[in-house]
Order: sequence, then C-alpha cells, then structure tokens
Amino acid sequence: MKVNQYRIESVIETLAKFNDTPENGVTRFSYSKNDRAAKDYLMNIFNELSLKMSVDAIGNIRARYEGKDPSLSPILIGSHMDSVRNGGKYDGIVGVVGAIEVVRVLSENNYKPKRSIEIIIFAEEEGSNFGTTMVGSKTLVGKLDVSDLKKLKNYQNHTCYDMVKGFGLNPDEISNYLITKDDAYAMIELHIEQGIVLEKEQKKLGIVEVICGMKTIKVSVEGVSNHAGATPMNFRQDPLVAVAEFISSIEKAARYYVLPTTVATVGEINCSPNMANVIPKSVTFTVDIRDVEQNGIDEMIKFVDKELKYIIEKYNVTASYILIGESKCIDLSKKITDAIESSITSLKVPFMRMNSGAVHDAAMFAQVTDVGMIFIPSRDGKSHSADEYSSYEDIALGCLVLLNTVIELAQ
Ligand SMILES: [Zn+2]
Repeated sequence: MKVNQYRIESVIETLAKFNDTPENGVTRFSYSKNDRAAKDYLMNIFNELSLKMSVDAIGNIRARYEGKDPSLSPILIGSHMDSVRNGGKYDGIVGVVGAIEVVRVLSENNYKPKRSIEIIIFAEEEGSNFGTTMVGSKTLVGKLDVSDLKKLKNYQNHTCYDMVKGFGLNPDEISNYLITKDDAYAMIELHIEQGIVLEKEQKKLGIVEVICGMKTIKVSVEGVSNHAGATPMNFRQDPLVAVAEFISSIEKAARYYVLPTTVATVGEINCSPNMANVIPKSVTFTVDIRDVEQNGIDEMIKFVDKELKYIIEKYNVTASYILIGESKCIDLSKKITDAIESSITSLKVPFMRMNSGAVHDAAMFAQVTDVGMIFIPSRDGKSHSADEYSSYEDIALGCLVLLNTVIELAQ
C-alpha cells in the first residue's frame, strides 16, 4: 500500500489557512474561530470516510476505523491541531494529517486490520491559551480534572473551564472520556523533530526512545517601587536588577554546570509598573527546565533555590515561585520502537534512534499504553516559527512508516 503525497500536502495546506495571522506564520489557538473551522473541515473528511467520531468534553477529536474484531482495543494515531502564536504549519499537523492518510489508504484498499485504528486529535497542546501544555491529552488520561480546568486562566482571566463551555462543550463530563489501560493497545505520534539533529546527521527519520521531562516554574520577585530620579542607587530594592542577575546565572548553570543535556529558558517576563521613570515594584517570569535525565531537572531546581536566596539577600527583595507544569522523562515502548524500526528498515532509508527534547501528547499516554514516536527532519531545526519547514517527501515518508507500523501492530 502507498500513501498519497499530494493528498497529504493538500490537507496540510488547507489546515494552514485556518489561521489568525496569515501574514506571519500560523496562529490557531484551541477554542478560537479558526480552531472551529479547522475542526469542521476535519470532521467532513471523517464523514466522507464513514468513521465513527466523537468530540470529547475538552475538545479532543477521535475518529475510528473499525477493525475485524471491534472487541480488541484500538491503536491510536494522531497529534495536536493547535499552534503557538506565529508558529508553523507542520507542528502537530503532520501527525494529524499522517493519521488521516493512514486511514484513507486502509479504506481505499478495503484493508481491514484485526484491531481498530483510531485517529486522535488533541486540543490545547501548546499551552498557548493558559500557559499549561497538553491540556487535551492530560485531561484524557486523568492528569487534569474539572477543578484544575477552573484554575487555568488565559491572559484575559478567562478560565479554561469557561472557554471550553463557550466552545459548546461540557467540561463537567471530562471523566466520561478518560482513557485507561484497556482502552488503547498502543499510541503512535508522527511529529516534526523541531531540532537540527536529523538534518545534521543526514537521516530521513528518527525513532524516539526517550521523551525529555520538564518542569516549568513561575517566579515572582518583589521590591520597592520608587522615583527613578530621586532614589540614590544604594537605597534601592530593584527587583528587575535582581532578576537580570538571576536569569544570567540560570543560563550559565544550564550551559556549564548541570548535565550536558540540561536546557533552561526564561521566555516570559512581566515587569510592573513597567514605566521608564519608575523603579519596578515586581517582576514575574517563567523558567522552563528540560532534560532527558531526571537528575538534570532536579539539579537545576536546586540551583534555582540557591540562586533565589542569593538575590534576595544581595538586592533586599522577596522572591518565591510556583510550579506551573511538570512531566517526567519517559522511555518509549520497545515493542513499538522495534515495530517502527522494522518498517523503516524495509524501506532502506537512513534513520537513527534519538531522544526528544520537546514534550509531546504521546508522553502523556505512556502511563496507559505502549507509546512510540516517529520524527521527520525540520529544516534548520526551526519550529514554533513561521520559518518552520519540512519537505512533503519527508512527510510522506513518515506517513508511510506510520502506515506500515500500524499494519504490523494491528494484525
Ligand atoms: Zn507539537
């Protein structure tokens, strides 16, 4: 059986048009108008394929291609359909479109595997609305409940719970859609690498062995606001100066002192009152820490604790942080990675086993089923940017490997 590259291209290009910022990359947040339009477009495809589909209480879509024995648990394939602000058209979407292509090929060849195949499309993976990633998949596996959804807020102070309700869904029913151990035989996600390793190593495909863990914290530093002209330097309690020193030591720690695999990023910062002639009163910022070794994350948190104590004393400010996101390092299933490898080997294309520096929906499923991930190259390693690009030949190759892996596992 073969995949159809032009059909894959046409679905990806169509989805890219459901976009709030056509002048600069793709912006499609969950629960937005364009999210709705993109979902309608996908549901039309599922209708044409006569798939049994459902939208759950948080906005994930599932569409089922029935196998010969419907009593067996299905193989789930898919990824997320939301984007970051000004992101690319391939992140998440490659896995969504790959899953659709797999089912289209099975259907047009009248091929019925023993197990059913379910396309699964996750909502709110990127954390674009509420700063918490993988809300759709976390909810599905019971890592978030209704009370959590009431606590998550976007920048306009709207809760996740209210936004989901406003989208026409009933978040009170999320427990009806939980996926537990007997509900899925395997979960496989095709995704762009979002890094430069495959390109540098001149490989066409990557088989993920470990998905890195992460911790994201929100730090608040409080000082004393005062007149920028009338307050001598030695009488200041300036939180922004303290934070500047903190951020630069975080970078040094991740680069030189923790593990070679540890990365740490301060990507969001807010200063109040944020005026040219006022010493700031408070500064809040996030620190995103990731590693394929749990030890690196733990060491980095210890460093944060130590460094905060240091700036509190040096600058006479107060400082504290809260944990806003966490996921553990995850080893993917040997059964699935071996199945992926055997389908790649039969195609005779260069591939490698590798780790994923980004966390994915698939990682959430590792607690309920066997999980595998296939990576395709990202040009220049770029992602979460309008410059994100993967060739349609590479995408089609990834879809073919997904197809062959699914066929092998679903027998
Ligand atoms: Zn993604």
